[in-house]
Amino acid sequence: MELNQLTISQAQDGLRKKKFSSVELIKACLRRIKKIDHQVNALITVCQNEALKEALKADKILNSKTDYHKRPLLGIPVAIKDNFCTLGIKTTAASKVLKDFIPVYEATAVKKLRQAGAIIIGKANLDAWAHGSSGENSYFGPTKNPWDLTRVSGGSSSGPAASVAAGMCLAATGSDTGGSIRLPASFCGVVGLKPTYGRVSRYGVIAMASSLDAIGHLSKDVTDAAIILKITAGADPLDATTPSVSVPNYVQKLTKPLKALKIGIPKQYFAEGIQIEIKTKIEKAIKKLETLGIRAVEISLPHSQYALAAYYIIQPSEVASNLARYDGIRYGGPRKYFADEAKRRIMLGTYALSAGYYDAYYLRAMKMRTLIKEDFRHAFQKVDLILAPVSPDLPFKLGEKISDPLKMYLSDIYTVPINLAGLPAISLPCGFSKKGLPIGMQIIGPQFSEDLLFQAAYTYEQATDWSRRRAFKDEE
Ligand code: GLN
Repeated sequence: MELNQLTISQAQDGLRKKKFSSVELIKACLRRIKKIDHQVNALITVCQNEALKEALKADKILNSKTDYHKRPLLGIPVAIKDNFCTLGIKTTAASKVLKDFIPVYEATAVKKLRQAGAIIIGKANLDAWAHGSSGENSYFGPTKNPWDLTRVSGGSSSGPAASVAAGMCLAATGSDTGGSIRLPASFCGVVGLKPTYGRVSRYGVIAMASSLDAIGHLSKDVTDAAIILKITAGADPLDATTPSVSVPNYVQKLTKPLKALKIGIPKQYFAEGIQIEIKTKIEKAIKKLETLGIRAVEISLPHSQYALAAYYIIQPSEVASNLARYDGIRYGGPRKYFADEAKRRIMLGTYALSAGYYDAYYLRAMKMRTLIKEDFRHAFQKVDLILAPVSPDLPFKLGEKISDPLKMYLSDIYTVPINLAGLPAISLPCGFSKKGLPIGMQIIGPQFSEDLLFQAAYTYEQATDWSRRRAFKDEE
Protein backbone atom coordinates (compact mmCIF):
# COMPACT_ATOMS: atom_id res chain seq x y z
CA MET A 1 0.00 0.00 0.00
CA GLU A 2 1.15 3.55 -0.76
CA LEU A 3 2.15 5.47 2.38
CA ASN A 4 -0.50 8.14 1.82
CA GLN A 5 -3.23 5.48 2.15
CA LEU A 6 -2.18 4.51 5.68
CA THR A 7 -4.27 5.25 8.74
CA ILE A 8 -2.74 7.25 11.58
CA SER A 9 -2.24 4.15 13.74
CA GLN A 10 -0.51 2.33 10.87
CA ALA A 11 1.72 5.34 10.16
CA GLN A 12 2.60 5.70 13.87
CA ASP A 13 3.73 2.12 13.86
CA GLY A 14 5.75 2.44 10.64
CA LEU A 15 7.45 5.67 11.74
CA ARG A 16 8.40 4.27 15.15
CA LYS A 17 9.76 1.06 13.67
CA LYS A 18 11.68 3.15 11.09
CA LYS A 19 10.02 1.36 8.16
CA PHE A 20 9.76 4.79 6.51
CA SER A 21 10.41 8.40 7.43
CA SER A 22 8.06 11.35 7.89
CA VAL A 23 9.62 12.97 4.81
CA GLU A 24 8.64 9.90 2.75
CA LEU A 25 5.14 10.00 4.20
CA ILE A 26 4.72 13.71 3.41
CA LYS A 27 6.13 13.21 -0.09
CA ALA A 28 3.65 10.41 -0.78
CA CYS A 29 0.77 12.74 0.18
CA LEU A 30 2.19 15.59 -1.90
CA ARG A 31 2.52 13.28 -4.94
CA ARG A 32 -1.07 12.21 -4.48
CA ILE A 33 -2.23 15.82 -4.23
CA LYS A 34 -0.33 16.74 -7.37
CA LYS A 35 -1.72 13.78 -9.25
CA ILE A 36 -5.41 14.11 -8.45
CA ASP A 37 -6.32 17.36 -6.72
CA HIS A 38 -6.71 19.25 -9.99
CA GLN A 39 -9.72 16.95 -10.46
CA VAL A 40 -11.01 16.72 -6.88
CA ASN A 41 -10.31 20.30 -5.68
CA ALA A 42 -10.14 19.31 -2.02
CA LEU A 43 -7.42 21.76 -0.97
CA ILE A 44 -7.36 25.56 -1.18
CA THR A 45 -3.75 25.87 0.00
CA VAL A 46 -1.03 23.22 -0.14
CA CYS A 47 1.76 23.77 2.40
CA GLN A 48 4.45 21.92 0.44
CA ASN A 49 7.66 23.58 1.65
CA GLU A 50 6.59 24.08 5.26
CA ALA A 51 5.36 20.48 5.49
CA LEU A 52 8.65 19.11 4.18
CA LYS A 53 10.61 21.28 6.60
CA GLU A 54 8.47 20.07 9.51
CA ALA A 55 8.94 16.46 8.37
CA LEU A 56 12.72 16.81 8.46
CA LYS A 57 12.48 18.07 12.04
CA ALA A 58 10.09 15.25 12.95
CA ASP A 59 12.47 12.64 11.54
CA LYS A 60 15.29 14.02 13.67
CA ILE A 61 13.21 13.65 16.80
CA LEU A 62 11.98 10.22 15.74
CA ASN A 63 15.57 9.11 15.31
CA SER A 64 16.72 10.37 18.67
CA LYS A 65 13.89 9.92 21.16
CA THR A 66 11.33 7.32 22.00
CA ASP A 67 8.91 9.19 24.26
CA TYR A 68 6.25 9.01 21.56
CA HIS A 69 3.33 9.30 23.94
CA LYS A 70 4.12 13.00 24.40
CA ARG A 71 3.88 13.65 20.65
CA PRO A 72 1.58 10.91 19.35
CA LEU A 73 1.14 12.54 15.92
CA LEU A 74 4.81 13.21 15.30
CA GLY A 75 5.40 13.38 11.55
CA ILE A 76 1.77 12.69 10.56
CA PRO A 77 0.24 14.80 7.74
CA VAL A 78 -3.21 16.29 8.35
CA ALA A 79 -5.41 18.71 6.43
CA ILE A 80 -7.12 21.58 8.23
CA LYS A 81 -10.53 22.85 7.15
CA ASP A 82 -10.00 26.38 5.92
CA ASN A 83 -12.24 27.94 8.56
CA PHE A 84 -9.69 27.06 11.29
CA CYS A 85 -7.24 29.92 11.84
CA THR A 86 -3.69 28.76 11.23
CA LEU A 87 -0.86 31.01 12.35
CA GLY A 88 0.87 32.44 9.29
CA ILE A 89 -1.09 30.27 6.84
CA LYS A 90 -3.84 31.80 4.71
CA THR A 91 -7.31 31.12 6.13
CA THR A 92 -10.17 31.97 3.78
CA ALA A 93 -13.33 30.22 5.07
CA ALA A 94 -13.69 29.68 1.28
CA SER A 95 -15.12 33.20 0.96
CA LYS A 96 -13.93 36.02 -1.27
CA VAL A 97 -14.16 38.26 1.82
CA LEU A 98 -11.17 36.49 3.44
CA LYS A 99 -9.34 35.38 0.31
CA ASP A 100 -6.07 37.01 1.44
CA PHE A 101 -6.44 36.75 5.22
CA ILE A 102 -3.40 35.49 7.12
CA PRO A 103 -4.20 34.99 10.81
CA VAL A 104 -1.87 36.19 13.54
CA TYR A 105 -3.18 33.54 15.91
CA GLU A 106 -4.13 29.90 15.80
CA ALA A 107 -7.21 27.82 16.63
CA THR A 108 -6.75 25.84 19.86
CA ALA A 109 -7.52 22.56 18.07
CA VAL A 110 -4.81 23.26 15.49
CA LYS A 111 -2.34 24.28 18.17
CA LYS A 112 -2.95 21.04 20.05
CA LEU A 113 -2.50 18.96 16.91
CA ARG A 114 0.75 20.74 16.10
CA GLN A 115 1.97 20.31 19.67
CA ALA A 116 1.26 16.61 19.28
CA GLY A 117 3.58 16.64 16.26
CA ALA A 118 1.06 16.72 13.39
CA ILE A 119 2.15 18.38 10.16
CA ILE A 120 -0.26 20.60 8.21
CA ILE A 121 -0.19 19.45 4.60
CA GLY A 122 -2.88 21.87 3.44
CA LYS A 123 -6.00 23.91 4.09
CA ALA A 124 -9.12 22.15 2.90
CA ASN A 125 -12.00 23.48 0.83
CA LEU A 126 -15.51 24.03 2.22
CA ASP A 127 -18.77 25.78 1.54
CA ALA A 128 -18.03 29.44 2.23
CA TRP A 129 -18.39 30.15 5.99
CA ALA A 130 -19.43 26.47 6.37
CA HIS A 131 -22.84 27.31 4.89
CA GLY A 132 -23.93 24.36 2.81
CA SER A 133 -24.35 20.62 2.37
CA SER A 134 -22.61 19.97 -0.93
CA GLY A 135 -19.30 21.86 -1.05
CA GLU A 136 -20.58 23.87 -4.00
CA ASN A 137 -20.78 27.23 -2.19
CA SER A 138 -17.00 27.70 -2.17
CA TYR A 139 -15.43 30.78 -3.78
CA PHE A 140 -12.68 28.38 -4.88
CA GLY A 141 -15.03 26.05 -6.76
CA PRO A 142 -16.73 22.82 -5.68
CA THR A 143 -14.95 19.76 -4.31
CA LYS A 144 -15.78 16.64 -6.34
CA ASN A 145 -16.53 13.29 -4.79
CA PRO A 146 -13.46 11.02 -5.10
CA TRP A 147 -15.76 8.01 -5.69
CA ASP A 148 -17.48 9.70 -8.63
CA LEU A 149 -16.21 13.03 -9.92
CA THR A 150 -19.61 14.01 -11.33
CA ARG A 151 -21.03 14.09 -7.80
CA VAL A 152 -20.69 16.34 -4.75
CA SER A 153 -18.54 15.37 -1.80
CA GLY A 154 -21.05 16.70 0.73
CA GLY A 155 -20.62 19.81 2.84
CA SER A 156 -19.65 21.89 4.36
CA SER A 157 -16.45 19.91 5.17
CA SER A 158 -16.15 18.92 1.50
CA GLY A 159 -12.37 19.24 1.28
CA PRO A 160 -11.57 17.50 4.57
CA ALA A 161 -13.74 14.51 3.61
CA ALA A 162 -12.50 14.25 0.02
CA SER A 163 -8.84 14.70 0.96
CA VAL A 164 -9.03 11.90 3.53
CA ALA A 165 -11.01 9.61 1.22
CA ALA A 166 -8.61 10.17 -1.68
CA GLY A 167 -5.48 9.68 0.44
CA MET A 168 -4.09 13.22 0.25
CA CYS A 169 -3.60 13.24 4.03
CA LEU A 170 -4.15 10.84 6.92
CA ALA A 171 -6.91 12.80 8.64
CA ALA A 172 -8.50 16.25 8.62
CA THR A 173 -10.25 18.63 10.98
CA GLY A 174 -13.85 19.70 10.46
CA SER A 175 -16.62 21.77 12.00
CA ASP A 176 -20.22 20.60 12.37
CA THR A 177 -23.00 23.12 12.97
CA GLY A 178 -25.82 21.11 11.44
CA GLY A 179 -24.13 18.08 9.91
CA SER A 180 -21.04 19.43 8.17
CA ILE A 181 -18.70 16.68 9.37
CA ARG A 182 -21.10 13.74 9.27
CA LEU A 183 -22.67 14.39 5.86
CA PRO A 184 -19.44 14.70 3.84
CA ALA A 185 -17.94 11.78 5.82
CA SER A 186 -20.90 9.69 4.74
CA PHE A 187 -20.76 10.89 1.10
CA CYS A 188 -17.03 10.15 0.88
CA GLY A 189 -16.96 6.86 2.79
CA VAL A 190 -14.86 7.97 5.77
CA VAL A 191 -15.40 8.27 9.53
CA GLY A 192 -16.60 11.66 10.84
CA LEU A 193 -16.84 12.64 14.49
CA LYS A 194 -18.99 15.49 15.79
CA PRO A 195 -18.16 15.62 19.50
CA THR A 196 -20.40 16.89 22.29
CA TYR A 197 -20.89 20.66 22.15
CA GLY A 198 -17.97 22.09 24.13
CA ARG A 199 -15.84 18.93 24.14
CA VAL A 200 -13.34 20.61 21.79
CA SER A 201 -12.51 24.32 21.93
CA ARG A 202 -14.05 26.54 19.25
CA TYR A 203 -11.41 29.21 19.79
CA GLY A 204 -9.93 30.34 16.49
CA VAL A 205 -12.47 28.55 14.31
CA ILE A 206 -14.36 31.13 12.26
CA ALA A 207 -17.74 31.17 13.97
CA MET A 208 -20.83 30.11 12.08
CA ALA A 209 -23.58 29.67 14.71
CA SER A 210 -21.90 29.70 18.09
CA SER A 211 -24.48 27.71 20.08
CA LEU A 212 -24.34 24.90 17.52
CA ASP A 213 -20.75 24.81 16.23
CA ALA A 214 -18.86 21.65 17.21
CA ILE A 215 -15.23 21.00 16.34
CA GLY A 216 -14.36 17.51 15.19
CA HIS A 217 -12.53 15.56 12.52
CA LEU A 218 -12.62 13.12 9.63
CA SER A 219 -10.47 10.01 9.53
CA LYS A 220 -10.03 6.70 7.75
CA ASP A 221 -11.21 4.63 10.70
CA VAL A 222 -12.61 4.75 14.23
CA THR A 223 -9.25 4.18 15.93
CA ASP A 224 -7.89 7.33 14.30
CA ALA A 225 -10.97 9.29 15.38
CA ALA A 226 -10.27 8.20 18.96
CA ILE A 227 -6.57 9.10 18.69
CA ILE A 228 -7.37 12.63 17.51
CA LEU A 229 -10.10 13.38 20.05
CA LYS A 230 -7.76 12.43 22.89
CA ILE A 231 -5.51 15.26 21.66
CA THR A 232 -8.04 17.97 20.78
CA ALA A 233 -10.59 17.53 23.61
CA GLY A 234 -10.56 19.38 26.91
CA ALA A 235 -11.17 22.66 28.68
CA ASP A 236 -9.70 25.79 27.10
CA PRO A 237 -9.47 29.12 28.94
CA LEU A 238 -10.08 30.79 25.57
CA ASP A 239 -13.50 29.16 25.11
CA ALA A 240 -15.90 29.48 28.05
CA THR A 241 -18.14 26.71 26.68
CA THR A 242 -15.53 23.99 27.26
CA PRO A 243 -16.21 22.42 30.67
CA SER A 244 -13.46 20.68 32.61
CA VAL A 245 -14.89 17.22 32.07
CA SER A 246 -12.00 14.76 32.10
CA VAL A 247 -10.78 13.35 28.78
CA PRO A 248 -10.73 9.56 28.87
CA ASN A 249 -8.15 7.46 27.06
CA TYR A 250 -10.45 6.76 24.13
CA VAL A 251 -8.01 4.48 22.32
CA GLN A 252 -7.42 2.20 25.28
CA LYS A 253 -11.16 1.89 25.81
CA LEU A 254 -11.88 0.93 22.18
CA THR A 255 -11.37 -2.77 22.65
CA LYS A 256 -13.28 -3.01 25.92
CA PRO A 257 -16.04 -5.56 25.35
CA LEU A 258 -19.50 -4.02 25.10
CA LYS A 259 -21.84 -5.36 27.68
CA ALA A 260 -25.59 -5.57 27.19
CA LEU A 261 -25.75 -2.45 25.09
CA LYS A 262 -29.14 -1.18 23.94
CA ILE A 263 -29.33 0.90 20.79
CA GLY A 264 -32.45 2.92 19.92
CA ILE A 265 -33.80 3.07 16.38
CA PRO A 266 -35.88 6.25 16.02
CA LYS A 267 -38.88 5.33 13.88
CA GLN A 268 -39.27 8.88 12.51
CA TYR A 269 -35.81 8.67 10.90
CA PHE A 270 -36.78 5.73 8.71
CA ALA A 271 -40.18 6.96 7.52
CA GLU A 272 -40.76 8.77 4.24
CA GLY A 273 -38.08 10.58 2.26
CA ILE A 274 -35.15 8.23 2.79
CA GLN A 275 -33.75 6.50 -0.30
CA ILE A 276 -34.47 2.81 -0.20
CA GLU A 277 -30.86 1.71 -0.76
CA ILE A 278 -29.78 3.69 2.31
CA LYS A 279 -32.58 2.28 4.43
CA THR A 280 -31.77 -1.30 3.40
CA LYS A 281 -28.07 -0.89 4.17
CA ILE A 282 -28.76 0.56 7.60
CA GLU A 283 -31.22 -2.20 8.40
CA LYS A 284 -28.49 -4.67 7.49
CA ALA A 285 -26.09 -2.84 9.79
CA ILE A 286 -28.61 -3.09 12.63
CA LYS A 287 -28.84 -6.87 12.06
CA LYS A 288 -25.05 -7.05 12.12
CA LEU A 289 -24.92 -5.17 15.41
CA GLU A 290 -27.44 -7.61 16.85
CA THR A 291 -25.17 -10.51 15.98
CA LEU A 292 -22.46 -8.66 17.92
CA GLY A 293 -24.57 -8.64 21.08
CA ILE A 294 -26.12 -5.17 20.79
CA ARG A 295 -29.88 -5.06 21.30
CA ALA A 296 -31.88 -2.81 18.97
CA VAL A 297 -35.17 -1.32 20.18
CA GLU A 298 -37.54 1.08 18.47
CA ILE A 299 -37.77 4.54 20.00
CA SER A 300 -39.59 7.76 19.17
CA LEU A 301 -38.14 11.25 18.75
CA PRO A 302 -41.41 13.04 17.96
CA HIS A 303 -40.10 16.61 17.73
CA SER A 304 -37.27 15.83 15.30
CA GLN A 305 -39.64 16.67 12.45
CA TYR A 306 -39.47 20.32 13.53
CA ALA A 307 -35.68 20.38 13.84
CA LEU A 308 -34.90 21.84 10.41
CA ALA A 309 -37.49 24.60 10.86
CA ALA A 310 -36.03 25.53 14.24
CA TYR A 311 -32.46 25.27 12.93
CA TYR A 312 -33.17 27.62 10.02
CA ILE A 313 -34.27 30.31 12.49
CA ILE A 314 -31.63 29.85 15.22
CA GLN A 315 -28.66 29.25 12.91
CA PRO A 316 -29.19 32.28 10.58
CA SER A 317 -29.85 34.48 13.63
CA GLU A 318 -26.42 33.58 14.99
CA VAL A 319 -24.84 33.73 11.52
CA ALA A 320 -26.16 37.28 11.02
CA SER A 321 -24.61 38.30 14.31
CA ASN A 322 -21.27 36.53 13.72
CA LEU A 323 -20.84 37.82 10.16
CA ALA A 324 -21.44 41.43 11.25
CA ARG A 325 -17.74 41.68 12.14
CA TYR A 326 -16.78 41.36 8.47
CA ASP A 327 -17.59 44.97 7.77
CA GLY A 328 -14.61 45.52 5.47
CA ILE A 329 -13.11 48.00 7.92
CA ARG A 330 -10.96 45.86 10.19
CA TYR A 331 -9.99 42.94 7.98
CA GLY A 332 -11.04 41.16 4.83
CA GLY A 333 -12.67 42.52 1.71
CA PRO A 334 -15.82 44.65 1.45
CA ARG A 335 -19.29 43.37 2.32
CA LYS A 336 -20.21 43.13 -1.34
CA TYR A 337 -17.86 40.14 -1.52
CA PHE A 338 -20.37 38.04 0.42
CA ALA A 339 -21.98 35.51 -1.95
CA ASP A 340 -25.68 34.67 -2.17
CA GLU A 341 -25.89 32.02 0.56
CA ALA A 342 -24.24 34.21 3.21
CA LYS A 343 -26.46 37.14 2.23
CA ARG A 344 -29.54 34.93 2.42
CA ARG A 345 -28.64 33.88 5.97
CA ILE A 346 -27.76 37.41 7.10
CA MET A 347 -31.16 38.63 5.87
CA LEU A 348 -33.09 35.71 7.35
CA GLY A 349 -31.38 36.06 10.72
CA THR A 350 -31.72 39.82 10.88
CA TYR A 351 -35.42 39.47 10.10
CA ALA A 352 -35.99 36.73 12.70
CA LEU A 353 -34.33 38.83 15.40
CA SER A 354 -35.98 42.14 14.56
CA ALA A 355 -38.44 43.78 16.97
CA GLY A 356 -41.89 42.30 16.58
CA TYR A 357 -40.64 39.11 14.93
CA TYR A 358 -38.32 37.95 17.69
CA ASP A 359 -41.14 36.36 19.71
CA ALA A 360 -42.85 34.90 16.67
CA TYR A 361 -39.72 33.24 15.25
CA TYR A 362 -36.61 33.16 17.41
CA LEU A 363 -38.30 32.51 20.73
CA ARG A 364 -40.53 29.78 19.33
CA ALA A 365 -37.57 28.12 17.65
CA MET A 366 -35.73 28.13 20.97
CA LYS A 367 -38.71 26.51 22.67
CA MET A 368 -38.71 23.83 20.00
CA ARG A 369 -34.99 23.33 20.59
CA THR A 370 -35.77 22.50 24.23
CA LEU A 371 -38.43 19.98 23.22
CA ILE A 372 -36.00 18.28 20.81
CA LYS A 373 -33.42 18.08 23.58
CA GLU A 374 -36.02 16.60 25.91
CA ASP A 375 -36.88 13.91 23.34
CA PHE A 376 -33.28 12.73 23.41
CA ARG A 377 -33.12 12.89 27.20
CA HIS A 378 -36.17 10.64 27.44
CA ALA A 379 -34.75 8.27 24.83
CA PHE A 380 -31.49 7.92 26.73
CA GLN A 381 -33.39 6.79 29.80
CA LYS A 382 -34.30 3.69 27.78
CA VAL A 383 -31.30 3.13 25.52
CA ASP A 384 -27.53 3.67 25.66
CA LEU A 385 -27.07 4.89 22.10
CA ILE A 386 -29.17 5.78 19.06
CA LEU A 387 -28.56 4.71 15.46
CA ALA A 388 -29.84 6.72 12.49
CA PRO A 389 -29.13 7.51 8.86
CA VAL A 390 -26.86 10.47 8.11
CA SER A 391 -28.48 11.62 4.90
CA PRO A 392 -31.73 10.75 3.13
CA ASP A 393 -29.86 10.82 -0.21
CA LEU A 394 -26.84 9.25 -1.84
CA PRO A 395 -24.14 11.71 -3.00
CA PHE A 396 -26.00 13.74 -5.61
CA LYS A 397 -24.85 15.22 -8.92
CA LEU A 398 -23.00 18.53 -8.99
CA GLY A 399 -25.55 21.27 -9.73
CA GLU A 400 -28.52 19.09 -8.82
CA LYS A 401 -29.65 21.06 -5.77
CA ILE A 402 -27.64 24.26 -5.80
CA SER A 403 -30.39 26.44 -7.28
CA ASP A 404 -33.00 25.22 -4.77
CA PRO A 405 -31.90 26.13 -1.21
CA LEU A 406 -34.82 24.35 0.44
CA LYS A 407 -33.98 21.09 -1.29
CA MET A 408 -30.37 21.53 -0.20
CA TYR A 409 -31.38 22.24 3.42
CA LEU A 410 -33.30 18.94 3.52
CA SER A 411 -29.99 17.04 3.23
CA ASP A 412 -29.45 17.77 6.93
CA ILE A 413 -32.77 16.51 8.18
CA TYR A 414 -31.18 13.68 10.21
CA THR A 415 -28.11 15.54 11.43
CA VAL A 416 -29.49 18.89 12.61
CA PRO A 417 -31.44 17.58 15.67
CA ILE A 418 -28.18 16.32 17.18
CA ASN A 419 -26.60 19.81 17.00
CA LEU A 420 -29.70 21.40 18.53
CA ALA A 421 -29.37 18.95 21.43
CA GLY A 422 -25.57 19.39 21.72
CA LEU A 423 -24.94 15.63 21.53
CA PRO A 424 -21.99 13.68 20.14
CA ALA A 425 -22.42 11.55 17.01
CA ILE A 426 -20.12 9.53 14.80
CA SER A 427 -20.77 8.89 11.12
CA LEU A 428 -19.28 5.69 9.75
CA PRO A 429 -19.47 3.78 6.47
CA CYS A 430 -22.04 0.97 6.37
CA GLY A 431 -22.03 -0.05 2.73
CA PHE A 432 -22.08 1.04 -0.89
CA SER A 433 -24.93 1.60 -3.33
CA LYS A 434 -25.32 -0.42 -6.52
CA LYS A 435 -23.48 2.38 -8.32
CA GLY A 436 -20.59 2.11 -5.87
CA LEU A 437 -21.40 5.25 -3.86
CA PRO A 438 -20.63 5.22 -0.12
CA ILE A 439 -23.44 5.06 2.45
CA GLY A 440 -23.02 6.15 6.06
CA MET A 441 -24.89 5.78 9.32
CA GLN A 442 -24.56 7.73 12.54
CA ILE A 443 -24.39 6.58 16.13
CA ILE A 444 -25.55 9.19 18.64
CA GLY A 445 -24.92 9.22 22.39
CA PRO A 446 -25.63 11.25 25.53
CA GLN A 447 -23.37 14.23 26.21
CA PHE A 448 -19.71 13.28 26.77
CA SER A 449 -20.27 9.63 25.82
CA GLU A 450 -17.70 9.68 23.00
CA ASP A 451 -15.92 6.67 24.55
CA LEU A 452 -19.06 4.57 24.18
CA LEU A 453 -19.68 5.85 20.63
CA PHE A 454 -16.18 4.81 19.66
CA GLN A 455 -16.60 1.37 21.23
CA ALA A 456 -19.83 0.64 19.37
CA ALA A 457 -18.51 2.04 16.08
CA TYR A 458 -15.24 0.12 16.47
CA THR A 459 -17.09 -3.14 17.16
CA TYR A 460 -19.08 -2.68 13.95
CA GLU A 461 -16.05 -1.61 11.96
CA GLN A 462 -14.05 -4.65 13.03
CA ALA A 463 -16.85 -6.94 11.87
CA THR A 464 -17.16 -5.35 8.41
CA ASP A 465 -14.75 -4.09 5.80
CA TRP A 466 -16.38 -0.84 4.59
CA SER A 467 -13.74 1.41 6.14
CA ARG A 468 -10.95 -0.45 4.44
CA ARG A 469 -12.06 0.45 0.92
CA ARG A 470 -10.29 3.35 -0.73
CA ALA A 471 -11.51 5.80 -3.36
CA PHE A 472 -9.58 6.15 -6.65
CA LYS A 473 -8.30 2.61 -6.16
CA ASP A 474 -8.16 1.87 -9.87
CA GLU A 475 -5.52 4.56 -10.32
CA GLU A 476 -3.05 3.17 -7.81
N1 GLN B 1 -25.65 22.20 5.84
C1 GLN B 1 -25.98 22.89 7.05
C2 GLN B 1 -26.08 24.37 6.77
O1 GLN B 1 -25.94 24.74 5.66
C3 GLN B 1 -24.96 22.61 8.11
C4 GLN B 1 -23.70 23.35 7.91
C5 GLN B 1 -22.67 23.04 8.96
O2 GLN B 1 -22.81 22.09 9.73
N2 GLN B 1 -21.66 23.86 9.01
O3 GLN B 1 -26.29 25.13 7.63
